[in-house]
Amino acid sequence: MRVTADRERCVGSGQCELLAPEVFEVDDDGAVRVLQPEPDDDAAVRDAVQQCPTGALSLEG
Ligand code: SF4
Repeated sequence: MRVTADRERCVGSGQCELLAPEVFEVDDDGAVRVLQPEPDDDAAVRDAVQQCPTGALSLEG
């Protein structure tokens, strides 16, 4: 699976980082950075994408 982030839409809530810290990190600019663009299929990663409050995260596969 492949994860992408729209940093313009991210508000830096940090929810994705809490759910899947190996894949997402809120950087010093207060916007998400994808640490692993092609992570192993993982329920926590899917949850993080679905629960982003601004819909900044997308998933393919
Ligand atoms: S959950 Fe969404 S808005 Fe919050 S830090 Fe992650 S990508 Fe940004």
